[in-house]
Amino acid sequence: MVRRNGWPESRSRALGTPLQPSVVYVADTPDALDDQYEGRTKGFSYAREGHPNAEVLARAIDALEGAEGGIMLSSGMGAVGACLMALLQAGDHVVAGNQLYGRSLRMLKEDLPRFGIETTFTDPTDAEAFEAALRPDTKLVLVEVVSNPTLRVADMAAITALAKARGITLVVDNTFTTPRAYRPFDHGADVVIHSVTKLLAGHSDVTLGYVAARDPEHRRKIYDCAVTFGFTASPFDCWLGERGLYSFELRFDRAEENARALADALARMEGVTRVLYPTRADHPDHARAKALLGGRGGNMVSFEIAGGRDRTNAFVAAAKNIAFAPTLGDIGTTLSHPPSSSHRALSEEARASLGISEGFFRVSVGVEPIELLIEEFAEAVGAAL
Ligand SMILES: *Cc1c(COP(=O)(O)O)cnc(C)c1O
Repeated sequence: MVRRNGWPESRSRALGTPLQPSVVYVADTPDALDDQYEGRTKGFSYAREGHPNAEVLARAIDALEGAEGGIMLSSGMGAVGACLMALLQAGDHVVAGNQLYGRSLRMLKEDLPRFGIETTFTDPTDAEAFEAALRPDTKLVLVEVVSNPTLRVADMAAITALAKARGITLVVDNTFTTPRAYRPFDHGADVVIHSVTKLLAGHSDVTLGYVAARDPEHRRKIYDCAVTFGFTASPFDCWLGERGLYSFELRFDRAEENARALADALARMEGVTRVLYPTRADHPDHARAKALLGGRGGNMVSFEIAGGRDRTNAFVAAAKNIAFAPTLGDIGTTLSHPPSSSHRALSEEARASLGISEGFFRVSVGVEPIELLIEEFAEAVGAAL
């Protein structure tokens, strides 16, 4: 019998957020639908347009970012795509950081030109170069605050001032920094993007994105684009993301404390030729990191060991408890090797110009006991000597 029973009645409420997978919502009458569509009452109608689990999660991330009306997308790239497709049109020019997430670079380089949108890539740590890249037809600037994998810190104060002065929409992908270290809206950004997949959800079990815009007109365009192209997120993914988000601040603070200690320990190890961590005195953007991130360095550490592929193979094989996986933001520590993963498409010279040698590794530090992490890294570095 296809007659659905209602939800069982209960005086008490669920403490955990219920998972609501329903695609459609049943209205009482056409009048009730009119009320809903015309904004006189609130209600859901079709899951691609919105559902309770997306709403609960988006409001939680809004609170962290000081945002309103954030939208959940099916991935971080869904968020980047919805934002760029919604806010740009043929003939527009974009200025973007030259070390953005690989797929964001690809979208700007390979895909958007097919729709008549052109991008100039430039170094976001160099305000003069950034200014020189701006054109009269520049409509949008896309930057990440901390770059992958060399952890350079963008000159956000200068970039924001330049964008503001010319009425250019400033979009910040805040995935690496997270609102724990930097809240783009507090500093004048127009749009904030997250790959929620990473630190916010934190358990490598869900792919999700988030985008929030300060201008309601931008928000409306991004929402319509996401719903039309089908970029929006599923209830189950949002439900998992929400569960992960509850421990985000605890995880981030612990992982950051670990990252700082691991960076210092690596710097003392024989065989480690370079360590990159934003709050260390030997980091090239140390002063800017301090001013911008208020002493927070985040959970990412990069370092370099001497030698070629035999040494990097030996290092990874010896670090057997550290997951060798090209991701970041998991609750556990993960290790990535840009020359054989994220940056493998670049020539050796192009990698060298970014400061990425064969011995270059990036660590997404997790919440393990720090003594254990330091011991495991020391052993692996020793095995690669
Ligand atoms: C991972 C990542 C993305 C893409 O997110 P997905 O959820 O994997 O689609 C975008 N920007 C940054 C900075 C990222 O690290």
